[in-house]
Amino acid sequence: MRRSIALACSSAKIMSLASKSDEEIIQQVRSKKIAFYGLEQALAPDYDRAIRIRREIVKTDMCPSTASKHPLDTLPYQNYNWERVVGQCCENILGYVPVPVGIAGPLMMDGKEVALPMATTEGALVASTHRGARAINLSGGCRTALLKEGMTRAPVVEVDSFEEAIAVCRFCEDNFEMLKAAFESTTRFGKLRSIKCAMAGREVHMRFSAFTGDAMGMNMITKGCDKALGVLKEHIPSIRVLSLSGNFCTDKKPSAVNWIEGRGKSVVAEAVIKKDVVEKVLKCTVDNIVKLNVSKNLRGSALAGSIGGFNAHAANVVAAMYIATGQDPAQVVESSTCMTSIDKVGEDMLLSVTMPSIEVGAVGGGTGLPSQRAMLELMGCAGANAESPGENSRQIARVVAGAVMCGELSLMAGHAAGHLLSAHMKLNRKPSGP
Ligand code: ADP
Repeated sequence: MRRSIALACSSAKIMSLASKSDEEIIQQVRSKKIAFYGLEQALAPDYDRAIRIRREIVKTDMCPSTASKHPLDTLPYQNYNWERVVGQCCENILGYVPVPVGIAGPLMMDGKEVALPMATTEGALVASTHRGARAINLSGGCRTALLKEGMTRAPVVEVDSFEEAIAVCRFCEDNFEMLKAAFESTTRFGKLRSIKCAMAGREVHMRFSAFTGDAMGMNMITKGCDKALGVLKEHIPSIRVLSLSGNFCTDKKPSAVNWIEGRGKSVVAEAVIKKDVVEKVLKCTVDNIVKLNVSKNLRGSALAGSIGGFNAHAANVVAAMYIATGQDPAQVVESSTCMTSIDKVGEDMLLSVTMPSIEVGAVGGGTGLPSQRAMLELMGCAGANAESPGENSRQIARVVAGAVMCGELSLMAGHAAGHLLSAHMKLNRKPSGP
């Protein structure tokens, strides 16, 4: 009864707002009767109108411009699926930034062709990745293996004594099954694999690692951790949870723990590039690339004190694919850690990439937006895999590793042949306009 009254009241309120003019609604925002951030909710389901009104407020009150055309007039906002964005992907919406998307490949990977969609504004990147795919295909393709899988979240708890901190670590070891059951009671897909405890004074940092199906898994694992901590607190009541995310996870920051232990999907990919392909397609020699790989990707990165940066430009390819497919672009930080290995085998070149922390999902976050989902469909791994949950997100990770290998091959060959600058000048510096 109370619920139906509340519903009737809120739909009456929406009706009355819908009948008001834009100017009246702007006045209500100015007088704080409607929150600036609450326009979508106030005018739902007419999100275009909510956004149009916010743009007007921004133009007049926040960012007035003396130009004949306000900068916001260039930002598109219509014909977008805002119902998929509101409450999930973005707040205080103004519009969307169109990013060009190119396609590299297809790459012959694990016996089948896969497309490599890339969203980027860096000229030469797609062309270079495409050239790498061609060289790999002409040499018989590449193969990948997923060695480990587990999204991580590390809450930090505090206790009052050294003994209690040790007790927390022991409890997690001795009662893993109990914590696992609590964790898994919150999710259909999440499966807790391990908890790694690290003590720092009277704090315990607990790195939970879980299988998260086709989701990248951050939301899923955070819910599971919260529940498991509730059970831990029942047994050790003195614990204080300082944060559900205490940075030992590590999310969106450089860290050795992800590089060594892995986060998300740990993937390796390998291809043998034939000598004549190296010479004809990549225009350099096997010996030159092998030598350059040691100088640049190993020695240079060692001198730089790099963590997981033993590669030429993995982040370029990871970022472009993440943006195209609705992954979390901030996770490029750890997802692009990569060691590129290049050796001579006989006369040919053995190329491989080792990528321990590829964080991707086929459901959740931006992957459900129509354009991003369409790119996942091109790759053949959109949405939840009904037969084998997790298989789609694993395939995305494999494709990312395969694409990174294409990018590494082409750029290393470009460096070895001294083509880097000329390719960039040709593809990056085209004069615009007449
Ligand atoms: P994340 O955990 O990556 O932040 P969300 O929690 O936002 O992602 O989205 C995952 C949602 O998708 C969950 O509600 C989950 O129950 C649902 N889901 C449906 N099918 C699957 C699947 N095959 N694997 C993982 N999650 C799935």
